[in-house]
Formats: sequence, structure tokens, C-alpha cells
Amino acid sequence: MTVTPRTHAETTRFAPSPTGRLHLGHALSALFAAREAGPSGTFLLRIEDIDAGRCREPFIKGIYEDLRWLGLSWPEPPWRQSARMAVYARALDELKARGLLYPCFCSRGDIAREIAAAAAAPQGPDGPLYPGTCRALPTEEAARRIAAGHPHAWRLNVGKALTGAPPLAWTDRARGKRTATPEIFGDVVLARRDVPASYHLAVVVDDAAQGVTCVTRGEDLFAASHLHRLLQYLLGLPTPEWHHHRLIADAEGKRLAKRDHAPTLAALREAGATPEEVKAAIGWNDR
Ligand code: GLU
Repeated sequence: MTVTPRTHAETTRFAPSPTGRLHLGHALSALFAAREAGPSGTFLLRIEDIDAGRCREPFIKGIYEDLRWLGLSWPEPPWRQSARMAVYARALDELKARGLLYPCFCSRGDIAREIAAAAAAPQGPDGPLYPGTCRALPTEEAARRIAAGHPHAWRLNVGKALTGAPPLAWTDRARGKRTATPEIFGDVVLARRDVPASYHLAVVVDDAAQGVTCVTRGEDLFAASHLHRLLQYLLGLPTPEWHHHRLIADAEGKRLAKRDHAPTLAALREAGATPEEVKAAIGWNDR
């Protein structure tokens, strides 16, 4: 078989959240990102640890250990999102100043009750859409509640954000060109009550700041790219390309996830597996 050598040079990243040890699905994701960078490109590691309540320092060490074991290396030190909260706050302020965000005081319970009482509950990629309760809150009332210290998230008013926006195209290397439909997420949260940024905001800001040219990640995040394309437009950031990869399933065909106690790379290594065996188990080919 003749293999065409990869000659392109991209900046890619593997961006795990240190909420557990890595499993086979992460191995595929990291190897995929490194291969997509190409022989003279740059493969970055980024630690997505904005959620201090769920992230643990030993898991960060575990990520380094597992990736090195797989033969990967990256420019040191890797960025940690927990050190960049001020940068995300500036991006939020910019969107707030343009009237594209509104504070949301609803608890999960409030939202569930509102949805249960509604005649229809449109579904988005991550579940039922936010019914828009706080979008209608008068500005003075919202300001009063904030001044009184009521906990609140910040949501994107997606209808307003799309008003006057041109059609936004984005390209996935496997699935081709798409026109962004970020409205499928409804008024998504960009800053959480407990964490002053969200995954969507931080990932978009950092991919641009790190000069990522090809965003690689699992198919489970394909829909999120519609929203990320809109955030890039709103924040005046460059548009990368995307390449979403297949997911690794367990014996029952279910996607591997930390919460289901998928076997970790550390456990496989302790049981005597070699990096080559792990690669074979996920059907990996370095070229
Ligand atoms: N931090 C995300 C995760 O652990 C991945 C982010 C991304 O690749 O966009 O699933």
C-alpha cells in the first residue's frame, strides 16, 4: 500500500477537562489532534479547568503521564483555562456592552417547572431549550436583582445576536461545508452562576488566542461548532476549520464516558497494556 505522506502544517489542540482519568476515547482524540497538526505543525495541550468544583490537580498530572506514555509531546507549559478567567470576563463585557447578553436568575428547578407548564418544549442538542423567562425582565428589575446579590448566569440573546448577521459558514473536513444554525441551542449560557465563563465562551476565546487553525474533537460536539462559529463572528475572531472524529463505543455500543467508569489508560497500563495495544484497540493508525 502506498501512503501519501502528510505535508500540511496546522495548529491543533487536545483540550481535556481534568475531571477524571483519561480513557480510550481521549486517546483517540489526542492522537487525532496530533496527527492533524501534521509533521511540521504544532500540537497543543490545553487544560480546560474552569470548573474548580469538578477539576482535580492529580487528574492534570494523570493527563501528562498518559499522553507522554502514548508518545505525545507539546509546547510547555500547557495553557490552563483557570488562569484566563480575566480574558473570558473581557469577552463577556464586550458582548454585554452590545446588549447581546442578559442576566438569568432562574434555577434549574425554575426552568424545569416553566418547561413542564409550557405547551411545547423545543429540544436542542443538549436538552430542552431555555424558555426565555428572564429575556423579558425589564432592565431596571434585572439591575435591582444584581445589586441585591441574586445569583445569576449570563445568557446569549441568540435572536438578537443573529439579527443583521450574514449567513455564517463553517467547514468540517470530513462532512463538508455547513451554514451555522446556532439558534438550535436557544439562549445558551455564556457565564454560569458558579463559574464566570462557560465551555463555549472559553473554548472559542482560547482557540483564537492560541492560533488554532483546525479544531479537532469528537462527533458529540459537532452541534456545538454551529454556536462557536457565531461566537467567533460576534467577537471578531478568525474562523478555523473543524475536524470531528468518530467516537469510541464500549461492548454494548454506548459511547465511552468518564461517568460510566470506562477503563482508564492508567488502569490498562497497570494491567500491562502497551501504547501499541491501546492504539490497536481503538483502530488507530499513525498515518
Ligand atoms: N474540554 C472538552 C472536553 O473535555 C473538549 C473541548 C473541545 O475539544 O472543544 O470534552
